[in-house]
Amino acid sequence: MELGHEYRWTVANVQTETPRIKNIYLESCSERPVFIAGQYLTVKLPDCSPAEGKAYSISSAPTESQVRLSIKRIGVFSEALLSLQSGDELITTAPYGFFYPEPEESSPLVFVVGGIGITPCLSIIKDLAYQQNSRPVQLHYSNQTESDIAFFAELEQLTAQHPNLSVMHYVTREQPANDAVTFGRMTIKSLLSHVDLSTDAEFFICGSMDFTKTLWKGLHGAGVPQHQLYTEGFF
Ligand SMILES: Cc1cc2nc3c(=O)[nH]c(=O)nc-3n(C[C@H](O)[C@H](O)[C@H](O)COP(=O)(O)OP(=O)(O)OC[C@H]3O[C@@H](n4cnc5c(N)ncnc54)[C@H](O)[C@@H]3O)c2cc1C
Repeated sequence: MELGHEYRWTVANVQTETPRIKNIYLESCSERPVFIAGQYLTVKLPDCSPAEGKAYSISSAPTESQVRLSIKRIGVFSEALLSLQSGDELITTAPYGFFYPEPEESSPLVFVVGGIGITPCLSIIKDLAYQQNSRPVQLHYSNQTESDIAFFAELEQLTAQHPNLSVMHYVTREQPANDAVTFGRMTIKSLLSHVDLSTDAEFFICGSMDFTKTLWKGLHGAGVPQHQLYTEGFF
């Protein structure tokens, strides 16, 4: 049932994605609100402050039947969300946010992601893939360890099906076993070695506030104009 600008959902399923991230699949109790890939829901929990709720980006594409939130265990609020089970109810605000590419543009897209910041980017990447959009898309995705990498298989499947999508994994804390994963921090130099700046590529940076600020400053300092840099800082 829609309550003003609020929506009521039922938890349809909960799946473990990594040791610290779970996927919560939601079904709307009434008409599902329309969302743009990249937007988030503000989730309210009756016994958990803040009363106004916390933001969680949708990690599924708009055309998928269920809405998926992917929650990383951090503090009290995320812990409470991770204890939800199938059949539980949840209240959210309407989908919101401006972290998405303009549909009429055709320049390349470069997603620069730290950890759980993958959620809105995955939604956008899936949406573009399902629309058979021909924009070249790169994802540069940094995590601490290989076991922290969320959606590894989902991304592999998408890259196998969509030749215009390429994914670069980086891990910072331990030598990866997988050859496809680079050991070390994602640097501006390594990132830009994959991007032709004359193509007016647009950069979508998402992760912790520190990650987002550092990457924004680095890319801007390397010559990427401000209007080609989009950010979503998780706090
Ligand atoms: C637009 C937006 C979208 C978001 N989407 C998602 C999402 O898809 N999935 C998700 O899990 N979270 C997402 N978040 C973060 C989420 O809203 C909460 O901030 C997060 O769950 C932490 O809340 P908490 O109460 O559990 O922990 P808190 O009690 O707020 O945090 C405990 C400690 O962890 C630190 N901390 C908080 N967030 C992070 C972080 N991301 N990384 C590292 N340290 C952190 C805090 O500084 C604090 O010291 C999003 C935030 C925003 C603003």
